[in-house]
Amino acid sequence: MLPVVAIVGRPNVGKSTLFNRLLGKRKAIVEDIPGVTRDRNYARVDRFGRPFLLVDTGGFEPASEDRLLAQMREQSQLAIEEADIILLVLDGKEGLTPSDVEVVELLRRHDKPLLCLVNKIDGPRDEANTAEFYALGLDEILPLSAAHGHGVSDLIVRLEELLPPVRERERAGDETRLAIIGRPNVGKSSLVNRILGYERVVANPIAGTTRDSVDTPFTYNHRSYLMIDTAGIRRKGRVSQKLEKFSVIQALKAMERAHVVLVVIDAAEGVTDQDLTVAGYAEEKGRAVMLVVNKWDLVEKDHTTMGSYVKDLRARFKFLPHAPVLFVSALTGQRVAKIMAEVEKLADEFNRRLPTSALNKVLREAVEAHQPSMFRGKRLKFFYATQTAVRPPTITVFVSRADGVHFSYQRYLANRFREALGLTGSPLRVRYQSRE
Ligand code: GDP
Ligand code: GDP
Repeated sequence: MLPVVAIVGRPNVGKSTLFNRLLGKRKAIVEDIPGVTRDRNYARVDRFGRPFLLVDTGGFEPASEDRLLAQMREQSQLAIEEADIILLVLDGKEGLTPSDVEVVELLRRHDKPLLCLVNKIDGPRDEANTAEFYALGLDEILPLSAAHGHGVSDLIVRLEELLPPVRERERAGDETRLAIIGRPNVGKSSLVNRILGYERVVANPIAGTTRDSVDTPFTYNHRSYLMIDTAGIRRKGRVSQKLEKFSVIQALKAMERAHVVLVVIDAAEGVTDQDLTVAGYAEEKGRAVMLVVNKWDLVEKDHTTMGSYVKDLRARFKFLPHAPVLFVSALTGQRVAKIMAEVEKLADEFNRRLPTSALNKVLREAVEAHQPSMFRGKRLKFFYATQTAVRPPTITVFVSRADGVHFSYQRYLANRFREALGLTGSPLRVRYQSRE
C-alpha cells in the first residue's frame, strides 16, 4: 500500500512549490485528460527509492487570522489521520508566527513522524533565519529552498528513512481485487452490501481490515475476489469531509491495490470533476474501470433517457472509451446482479494471456489490410508482436521505426488487436519498439 506524505503549512509558505519540486515536474501528471486539470494537489511520486502519495493540503486563502487558524487545525487533523509522514512547511523569510506554534503543538501530540521545514532559505545569508524556529523545541529543523532546490536532497534522505518499509507483496494468489469508489453518498455502501449479499456470492466471514478500507474476500462463480470498500472505513472516521481531497486520497489508495475499479456516479447528481479525477487516475494506472450509475430509480425516464445518458458519460469520460457502463439501483436491486457478471468478464480480459502466434496473425492481417503511410520516404516494416505484461494486457510491437508509427495508425492497430482478441472493456496497452 502506498504511504501518504502530507504537506501542511500556511498559505504562501511554498507548499505547492515544494510539491512540484518533489514531483520533479512543473505540473500535474494527467493534464491531458479533460476535466482533470484543476486543483490537482496529490500525485504519486515514483522517483525515489520508495513510491509514495504526496498530498498538498493547502486549501483556500483564509480571509482572517481566525479562519487561518481554523483551517490550519483542520489541515493538521486530517494530516494526522490520513498521512504516514507530515511535512510542516514554515516561512523562513516571514519568521515564526503564532499559528505555527499552535500547529506544532497539535502535530506533536501524535506519534506521526513530523519533519519541520524552514523554507525560503535560498542562500547562506538566509541561514540565520532558521535560528528562531528552534524555539519550537523540535529535534530537527531542515532548512530548505523549495524554489531553488537547496536542502531538497537532505529532505529526501530523511523521507526515505521515515517511510514505512516495503511490505511483502500482497497475499499471493490470483484473486481479483475490486475497489468501489465514488463521492460520499453515491451509494457505495449500499452497493457493497447488495453485491456481498447476492445469492451467488459467498462472502468470507473473516474480513481483513486495513486502515483505509474494509477488505472482504468473497467468491463468485468459483473465483476469488477481494472487495476493497473505502466507504466502510469512512463511516467510522471522525473527521468531517470538509476537505474533499482527503476522500480522494482513500480512493487513490484503494485503486493502487485494485485490478478492477467501479466508479460509482449518482444518477441524479451527474458526473462531477472529482469523479473524472479519480477515474483519470485509474486509467493512468491501467486499471480496468467500470462506470456504475447508481440511483437510477430516481431518474424520470422514457425510452431515450439511457441512450442520451450514455452519450453524455462517453463525452465526459473521453479517456475511458471502452469502460463498460451500467445503470443500477442499490435501493431496488435493479441490475445489481449484472455488476458481478460484468466484473467477471472484465477481470477475465484484464488477466488475459495472448499467444504470440495469435498476436502475429492479427498484426500481419492488419498491416496487409491497411498499409501504414510512408515515414521519411520509407515504408515502415512491422516484424512481430508479443505480450510483454499482464494486468493490463500489454503488447509490444517491433517495428523498423517506432517513432514513425503515426498516432492514427496506432489507434487502428490497437482496435484490430481489441477486436480480434475479444478485449471489449479492459484497458489494452500497445507499445512500439524499434528494431533493425
Ligand atoms: P503555498 O501557498 O504554500 O502553496 O505557496 P507557493 O508554493 O504558492 O509559494 C508562495 C510564494 O513563495 C511564491 O511566490 C513562490 O515563488 C515563493 N517561494 C516558494 N518557495 C520559495 C523559496 O524557496 N524561496 C523563495 N525566495 N521563495 C519561494
Ligand atoms: P456511500 O456514502 O457512497 O457509501 O452511500 P450510501 O450507500 O451510504 O448511500 C447514501 C444514501 O443514498 C443512503 O441514504 C442510501 O439509502 C441512498 N441510496 C443508495 N443507493 C440508492 C439508490 O439506488 N437509489 C436511491 N433512491 N437511494 C439510494
